[in-house]
Amino acid sequence: MSRIRLGTITSVAKPGEGAVLKRAQCLAWLAAGTLVAAIAVVPGRASQSRPVSGTARRPNIVFIFSDDHAYQAISAYGSRLNKTPNIDRIAKDGMRFDRCLVTNSICGPSRATILTGKYSHLNGFYNNTNSRFDGAQTTFPKLLRSAGYQTAIVGKWHLVTDPTGFDYWDILPGQGVYYNPPMIRNGERVRRDGYVTDVITDLSLDWLKKRDPSKPFMLMCQHKAPHREWSPNLKYLEPYDRTYPEPDTLFDDYRGRGPAEAGQDMEIRRTMTNLDVKLTTPGSLNAEQRKVWDAYYGRRNEAFRKANLQGDALIRWRYQRYMHDYLACIASVDESVGRVLAYLKENGLEKDTLVVYASDQGFYLGEHGWFDKRWIFEESLRTPLLARWPGVIRPGSVNRNLTSNLDFAETFLEAAGVQPPGEMQGKSLVSLFAGGKPRDWRKSFYYHYYEYPGPHDVAKHYGVVTDRYKLVKFYEPHQYTELFDRREDPRELRDVYRDPAYAEVRQDLEAELVRLRAQYRVPDRDADASQIPYPRRRPAAAQPR
Ligand code: CA
Repeated sequence: MSRIRLGTITSVAKPGEGAVLKRAQCLAWLAAGTLVAAIAVVPGRASQSRPVSGTARRPNIVFIFSDDHAYQAISAYGSRLNKTPNIDRIAKDGMRFDRCLVTNSICGPSRATILTGKYSHLNGFYNNTNSRFDGAQTTFPKLLRSAGYQTAIVGKWHLVTDPTGFDYWDILPGQGVYYNPPMIRNGERVRRDGYVTDVITDLSLDWLKKRDPSKPFMLMCQHKAPHREWSPNLKYLEPYDRTYPEPDTLFDDYRGRGPAEAGQDMEIRRTMTNLDVKLTTPGSLNAEQRKVWDAYYGRRNEAFRKANLQGDALIRWRYQRYMHDYLACIASVDESVGRVLAYLKENGLEKDTLVVYASDQGFYLGEHGWFDKRWIFEESLRTPLLARWPGVIRPGSVNRNLTSNLDFAETFLEAAGVQPPGEMQGKSLVSLFAGGKPRDWRKSFYYHYYEYPGPHDVAKHYGVVTDRYKLVKFYEPHQYTELFDRREDPRELRDVYRDPAYAEVRQDLEAELVRLRAQYRVPDRDADASQIPYPRRRPAAAQPR
């Protein structure tokens, strides 16, 4: 058992790093054939940033962002389940990031981190239950807008307060619905007909068509899909009627780990509802859509009821239904990516546009018997990240550095020639885009999940992650520490915290965790704002409703 080497990890503070990044960015622009007359990057605070001259040649940014899209369901990441040819094109023409980790694996907090470049304890958005985003904060869209970019966000927002920093916003209220979704367009409620992923794509392309072509733009195209309850575009119901391979850990019994893992409420076995598995029909379908829905699910549901499945057979049936619906939702997201890429190509924008595809976190596709996210464990910690920037990113490249949604804001700002404010806590990926291998890149990553009590009963926890190890501290309602060695135990089934062979690793990681918490200014005790002010009654979710 060799001692882990965390290496020398430099501070995220910007002195020195900024100059390196500016050089990387200039090289990137020159590589792209972009002539930048003068890069007016103002050091210091964001409010001092001002537009870069030669604005027409700054890259456009298209950030395509889905909700709960597991990397296991992208063929560029080797999916056993489905094909995503359009999303794969971004990887084929650009860079695939294999270890992009989120700071807090849940929808709203991930979005708040992306906008602000800060951890939850500094941006104030801790959980989906009672957090509200403070829109007065500095965000990357605001900074891009003040630097002369046209900015738009279309689709899922999920941060409770109205968006700020956008010329155009057209968002789903809350989680949104899959069919004929109500939306809020710059403050006005409107209802759209059709399937939500198509609606978001249409509105995104409409905005691109109407924009001022003399200015660069930043578009956030934010899908609701494939979020629970995974209702597909009806045209994909039949084509996805297949049998899907099961994960090895579908029947995980949580032995070898502590009470948090056993005590959650996110199992296919006992948590999935009738709505999740389409034994209940969503209310938002119109009469015509309902006919198509019934034609597909009707006889299959009847056969299921007759079969009266129990035990493992019932779990297997639910898993198959879950995969059918989830992957059919992704088919629409992939189709949407294809439409956006086609628009860029047909309009001569392909070469001048940075396209990024990501999800707000990863997701369990039956691993550990689970759906949903939240944990520091790999399937929910890792999110897909693909980026294409012709002339800057070498086609077909793969990056294995520890990157994060914490880095997105600074990446977009650096790409646009805007100095990221010192208060942001990430690291721009621009130098990685340009093929750089910075020696001082992070070798450990801090994670923190807060939503307890809350849906799915996942205990509060934080921890440190390296290439090989994870040290996890659960602190409410359970208090214990675990250590996982992903090289020896890639499925994270065996806690080795008390194994004497790992004594040195444990010691190093404990010290590293203390160092990271100090570096990121994590308070010793959670702030009051992170507390959910009501005790949650455990729902009668042990059986499907
Ligand atoms: Ca999500």
